[in-house]
Amino acid sequence: MKRLDGYRSDISRCVRCGACRSTCPTFGVIHREAASARGKISLADAFIKGEVELSDTFIKHISECVLCAACQESCPNDVPVPDIIMAARAEAVRGRGLPLLASVIMKGLRNPDNFISGTLKIASLVQGLVFKKVPGESGLHRRFPLPLIQGERLVPPLARRFLLDIIEKERKGHRGDNGRHKRGIKVGFFAGCIINYIMPDIGIASIKVLKKAGATVIVPSGQTCCGMPALGMGDVDDARSLALKNLEAFEEQDLDFITTACATCSEVLKRRFRDILEDEGPEIKRRVEVFCSKVRDITELLVNDIGLTSLVLDDQSPTSEKIVTYHDPCHLRRGQGIKDEPRELIDLAGLKRKEMKHPCRCCGLGGSFNITNYEFSMEINRGKALDIKNTGADIVATACPGCIMQLRDGLHRVGAKTEVRHVVELLAEKVGEG
Ligand code: SF4
Ligand code: SF4
Repeated sequence: MKRLDGYRSDISRCVRCGACRSTCPTFGVIHREAASARGKISLADAFIKGEVELSDTFIKHISECVLCAACQESCPNDVPVPDIIMAARAEAVRGRGLPLLASVIMKGLRNPDNFISGTLKIASLVQGLVFKKVPGESGLHRRFPLPLIQGERLVPPLARRFLLDIIEKERKGHRGDNGRHKRGIKVGFFAGCIINYIMPDIGIASIKVLKKAGATVIVPSGQTCCGMPALGMGDVDDARSLALKNLEAFEEQDLDFITTACATCSEVLKRRFRDILEDEGPEIKRRVEVFCSKVRDITELLVNDIGLTSLVLDDQSPTSEKIVTYHDPCHLRRGQGIKDEPRELIDLAGLKRKEMKHPCRCCGLGGSFNITNYEFSMEINRGKALDIKNTGADIVATACPGCIMQLRDGLHRVGAKTEVRHVVELLAEKVGEG
């Protein structure tokens, strides 16, 4: 992956005009120049020139970013600010190592079978002792003070059964069902951590809709985290080893497409794999190109490649009276330029759609930003939650499980009862069983 000093020419394109300040959500709540995109570019520039060191202050400033890319979108010179910030975080990890919590998380993601999966299975069984259900909400509150779980934070419950375990059990019950059906395309489904451990229903809904559309769906068992948590923390080595594992897991299948219902995962698999594995030599590069060319977010796969129409849906009943507003995940709209497809799918599901004021305003999650800067993260979210509440919609749909978690917490804080759903779940409700 490109080191920070490899971005010299990009950094030199920053003319300090400040156009990015008004769109930067972290600057909007922290109100410090160093929290803005322009401030971070200056900091990265100073680091490359040896004018600042890897101090705690430097690390704090570069951690204050949700990687939403609103700055790049508003920049007249297309400065790739998120990439530069991730490269700066990687320098911090090279120089100072990973913080303790991050290294524990990454140890788990590196060996999911031995550590994370087992630990989370136990946690799933005992979570009721530590958390209590919030009436009428899809989340939990802590019963007593806990590290990293601030105040009234709405914590998503762990799934009783993880998606990859459910699929594995089904696979054992239907040996030999991995072949290509006579007609239709063969799609590999990438779960991602949140869908696997917390929201398996989104994975099940995705598979149901894909099958209904005529696709053969394979869920490769060797798959693991997409690597974004590692990349976001600056841990390039772990991002690389996770990418190689995923490459192998999906290459074993003869797939036409690789898809996921997580906007962050689809951006990483489609775009960032090339950067993560660019130093691995020509043979890996060739394999990465083949892999990346097959990746589609599930919303674009259903609309653009499969051409899903309402005719394949079992439930042809008239449009529901429920109103749905759509939140654009940053990694889908800015990261992949996908904005119409999820809206088309909501229309296909027969729901009335109403746009909110700023549909692509960031939800404030930003991966580890939500853990290390929870109150700022929720302050960013407040504007989004109020935009949703003001539509009066019954449902806010989106295409990223991370956004779903964050929106549920934010809507709970502003007292809105809006349901938060993934677009594919709305479609799956129109598909009958079997
Ligand atoms: S990526 Fe988003 S949060 Fe980070 S500097 Fe750019 S606008 Fe600000
Ligand atoms: S908008 Fe672009 S050129 Fe202007 S200050 Fe921000 S990063 Fe620099």
